[in-house]
Amino acid sequence: MIVPRCVNICHLQNSYITALEKPLFYKGMKNALKITCAVLEPFLGFAVLGTCITVGIGPQGLFPGFLAHGAVWKIGLYLMGMTHITITAMSLCFHRMHTHQGVTFPKWLDHLMQSWLALTTGMSKLDWVSVHIYHHAHSDQEKDPHSPKHKGLARIFFFGVYDYVVAKDTPEVMKLRKKIPEDRYESFLKKNPLIGPIFTAAVLAVCFGPAVGGGIALATFAISPLFAVGGVNAIAHAIGYRNYETTDESRNIGFLFILNWMICGELDHNNHHAHPKSCSFRHRWYEFDVGYFYIQLLSLVGWAKVKTVYSSKRTPILRSVPAPEPTYDYSEIKIREKIEA
Ligand SMILES: [Zn+2]
Ligand SMILES: [Zn+2]
Repeated sequence: MIVPRCVNICHLQNSYITALEKPLFYKGMKNALKITCAVLEPFLGFAVLGTCITVGIGPQGLFPGFLAHGAVWKIGLYLMGMTHITITAMSLCFHRMHTHQGVTFPKWLDHLMQSWLALTTGMSKLDWVSVHIYHHAHSDQEKDPHSPKHKGLARIFFFGVYDYVVAKDTPEVMKLRKKIPEDRYESFLKKNPLIGPIFTAAVLAVCFGPAVGGGIALATFAISPLFAVGGVNAIAHAIGYRNYETTDESRNIGFLFILNWMICGELDHNNHHAHPKSCSFRHRWYEFDVGYFYIQLLSLVGWAKVKTVYSSKRTPILRSVPAPEPTYDYSEIKIREKIEA
């Protein structure tokens, strides 16, 4: 909430707020009210739904005995699977296809992945793509929305989502967003970011009861951003080895096999910053990119078309050759404009 410094809180009367301060003060109050409503609405909705489920089905939902034995294992496996599927959709669809244009998928598969992301994260394509282009353009410089070099590793790991939310509404990112094409379905998802998470929470509550289902829903919404934003933007910009002397701090830590599988091979991040248009992040024989493995499987049945891929024969790893300068910013948009034309 923005409160002008000279406003005395104890005497909030019109006479104490100058003509210049009034719009600022009221705008601050309006924003605070909007944020409070946005946070409270889902909770109130869930409380009403929870009461209905408890009265109608019972406090443990449709499957009361499902979590009676091995609950920790079942919930752990669910969260691992859920995180892997969510970040795979994010990596293949938002990242490798819509941002860097290294691969394309048919419309139905593209929309299926975006629907999954809407259900589990509420994130929209336009926001994600524009913030990510901005990240590549200003990587590890002061303007980078999530650089551990400037903001600290812990801050980006645990609160990276907050920085993402702030960054997507900054004027420069909004300017980028306006140039990205969107279809009617994407526009609908963008305008209704809460529909997906509310639906997911409702299904889990009906299955496992309001308390357990609500808890699993909250973990579902929290765990993917923690791994995706925290894992890639924090760890892979601070810890690991470098194949390329890029102008940023990107690193490769794909050797953390389980974590790298969980986040779809995104951890060989120095390779990605050096060759952003490649839909494969694997540049050495011992590196592993499960995302590219899925792309190859999909292309076998005609559901993926590889457009750009790194080849060690064509482009050998030369540490002395710098990766693209950050000035390549917005080129993704220009390329897209050419394709559209
Ligand atoms: Zn990065
Ligand atoms: Zn990228």
